[in-house]
Amino acid sequence: MARPHENPSPDAAAPRVRRTGHPVGGTVPAITGAAAPGVVPGRSRGGSGGGAGAVARSRGIPPTDARNRRISDALEAWFAREARDLPWRRGRTAWSALVAELMLQQTQVSRVVPAFDRFMARFPAPADLARADDETLLTHWAGLGYYRRARLLRAAAAHIDAVCGGTVPRDASALRRLPGVGRYTAGAIASIVFGAREAIVDGNVTRVLARLEARRERADDDAGVRWTWARAESLVRASASPGVFNEALMELGATVCTRAQPACTACPLRRECRAAGLEDAGAPASIPPPKPAAVRRPLHIDAVAVIERGRILLERRPESGLWAGLWQMPARESAKAGGHDALLRWTRDHLPGWRPAAAPLHAFPHATTHRAVVIRVWRGERQATGSGRDRVSSDRVWQRLTVLDERPMSSAHRRAIEHAVALLPAGTRRDRGSA
Ligand code: SF4
Repeated sequence: MARPHENPSPDAAAPRVRRTGHPVGGTVPAITGAAAPGVVPGRSRGGSGGGAGAVARSRGIPPTDARNRRISDALEAWFAREARDLPWRRGRTAWSALVAELMLQQTQVSRVVPAFDRFMARFPAPADLARADDETLLTHWAGLGYYRRARLLRAAAAHIDAVCGGTVPRDASALRRLPGVGRYTAGAIASIVFGAREAIVDGNVTRVLARLEARRERADDDAGVRWTWARAESLVRASASPGVFNEALMELGATVCTRAQPACTACPLRRECRAAGLEDAGAPASIPPPKPAAVRRPLHIDAVAVIERGRILLERRPESGLWAGLWQMPARESAKAGGHDALLRWTRDHLPGWRPAAAPLHAFPHATTHRAVVIRVWRGERQATGSGRDRVSSDRVWQRLTVLDERPMSSAHRRAIEHAVALLPAGTRRDRGSA
């Protein structure tokens, strides 16, 4: 459920989108090939007088939903003023929205911003991505992590191309048939792009809604998840513009109602927020209670930097599991830290003609969702006899150091290579022109 845009900074510093013509006083970014998202058929806010009661009746909202209406109105008006200018909000299409949503899963906005336009330029339509090979796909996904999502997005593109006539489906149930698209993503695209009255729940929404109602129970167990979806649905029913409301709710969680430091004095919902009205200082930040810390399994990686004449030996990981299909230095992996002897034995089998130096060049920790990784980088030394340079294949290559970006890698292994290259003698790194 965690969504990337939970961290306010540096994303909070992104420029605001100015909106004009929106029902609450702004513009909705241009949408191509979609229903106008700011207005839901049959739910127009209307411009005549009559006060809040008349507005509520015109929307078919019973008076008991007046608070929901006040919340959605305040949030939509705030979003019209304060929405950040993000690449996927400009000239949005259903396809670009799908790409953005998959990229944003478990990845910070600040990392998606530089990748998004590059990806869309290379894959402007589902058919373009459906035909992409692994290397091209992963290279354009570089820096976003969680590479399985890239393959799911390609599978979704192939489904759209083959089954849906190249057009992203409009309704949430059809969207959920796409690989990698769950209830949240389907609701986001259906509401934000097509104006459907669908709720969405991510980490930001969960936090804001729990605080809005001062709900102190856990939000991540079954009861908490059910409560959050039900509350989101009740609010989206009352909203004038479901897509604007949904996006605004996420935006509020990302930039104002942040996990550790909710800025209640600047919040458009402070009058309706029950956590903000609690007597104990710091109450909003303690809601919802934190999830129990995830238990990460240890993984020790000993990577051997085999570098000669400006080239480094790289291997491709298996097609499944951690960092599937990505490139890295040859590396021994184990659940327990091994010594030099263990690595020496491994290189005899795996890297004939090479051996690790007596001590590692560098070591650093790296956390993934499920793993506590420690990477040690060893210099590979050529032995007097034999050659490790002969064993190349489609999964093992000598790569020029000047064009390492051509190979998709995990951020951990890219960092390991950067350390290795920086710490090796300059003569080792120099390209002397022959492979
Ligand atoms: S008033 Fe404070 S706690 Fe309530 S929604 Fe706004 S920022 Fe969050």
